Amino acid sequence: MSPSANSVIVVGGGIIGCACAAALSRQGMHVTLIEAGIIGGGATAAGMGHLVVMDDNPAELALTSYSLALWRKLVAKHAAGHEYHACGTIWVATDEEEMVAAKLKQENLRAHGIACQMLDAQALAKAEPGLRSGLAGGLKVAGDALVYPPKSAQLLLDLALGYGAKLVQGEVSALVPGGVRLADGSAYLASEVVIANGIAAATLLPELPLRYKKGHLLITDRYPDFIHHQLVELGYIKSAHASDGDSVAFNLQARPTGQIMIGSSRQFDVRDKAVESAMLARMLDNALQFVPGLNELKALRSWTGFRAASPDGLPLIGQHPEHPHVWLATGHEGLGITTALATAELLTNQICGLSSQIDTVPYLPSRFDLSIQPTT
Ligand SMILES: Cc1cc2nc3c(=O)[nH]c(=O)nc-3n(C[C@H](O)[C@H](O)[C@H](O)COP(=O)(O)OP(=O)(O)OC[C@H]3O[C@@H](n4cnc5c(N)ncnc54)[C@H](O)[C@@H]3O)c2cc1C
Repeated sequence: MSPSANSVIVVGGGIIGCACAAALSRQGMHVTLIEAGIIGGGATAAGMGHLVVMDDNPAELALTSYSLALWRKLVAKHAAGHEYHACGTIWVATDEEEMVAAKLKQENLRAHGIACQMLDAQALAKAEPGLRSGLAGGLKVAGDALVYPPKSAQLLLDLALGYGAKLVQGEVSALVPGGVRLADGSAYLASEVVIANGIAAATLLPELPLRYKKGHLLITDRYPDFIHHQLVELGYIKSAHASDGDSVAFNLQARPTGQIMIGSSRQFDVRDKAVESAMLARMLDNALQFVPGLNELKALRSWTGFRAASPDGLPLIGQHPEHPHVWLATGHEGLGITTALATAELLTNQICGLSSQIDTVPYLPSRFDLSIQPTT
């Protein structure tokens, strides 16, 4: 049986697959989303849910800022459902050198129309009294926010189902001509296939240049008003973009529940999901350097997740250069919650032959050599 025209299989029901399913079905495509486990149960459930404008390069800035605008539009209808909180981010500078980095960041963001404000030491202490004294200041980006990622994934899937999409529970074991085969032997055909199963995309397509980047997080009991903004150390940028090794960076978030989420760590190529006490201790020690009062809080749970890291830190969004009807939406590393909606728009526009609001070229998978290497 040949697949019907305008039909799409989306492999994976994380935030990326669900966002793609919603955007594609809104365009009138016949979408079947196939998820092996729980909707939003992969890296999506592990993430902090920080919606953050990042500006390490123009492509990252374009994708994150466009996506944040789409998030604001989406949550305008259902902010509580997403547990959306417009908390803003404060990038914390420990010394004058980091203040210079904060000022450069401010100039860059402002040049792209993103409101942000420098805080001196006093203003920082006033904004966040829990931070230790002696910090140099920071940069406040008021438009950043947070969501509860697995709920957002489910809400995006609900939108897709409302437009007529179908959900299939099953594990895709292989791509076959014109569709996919499931582990139970059944096959699903469609004119297009979107690979959006996070780090597991490299299992289906081993030529994808994705690496595991494990992260730890910890959440406390409820302490309302303990902090007010998402707090991130400026050194986070160095840690987030390191191309190898283990690192930790201070990243603190107040959940709308009153709980405090503490992050984060990065370890390349570690596939064991276990919480590692040494890495957790390193992460917490670093956080205590910024907010000593964390020591008094009761921790409830810690967990890990796997980011899918690409060689240049940008996601792969677009056609597989060797398979015209296979589309990729993966490699989002530590920004997949932030960039989910922009990813879905860019991918949908490419599949449907529509133009996009931002340049799609920097994210095209064809920037990598994805030719299938013969096995020797
Ligand atoms: C510790 C940590 C903190 C983070 N914090 C943030 C943050 O604050 N902000 C931010 O923007 N991003 C953050 N991220 C990154 C973000 O969580 C990810 O980029 C994003 O969740 C990736 O979504 P995804 O849909 O691609 O993958 P996943 O959420 O992993 O979804 C993939 C889905 O595919 C399914 N699947 C896999 N294989 C198959 C198969 N063969 N057949 C069918 N289904 C399959 C899985 O079950 C899963 O549900 C963080 C990540 C980690 C680990």
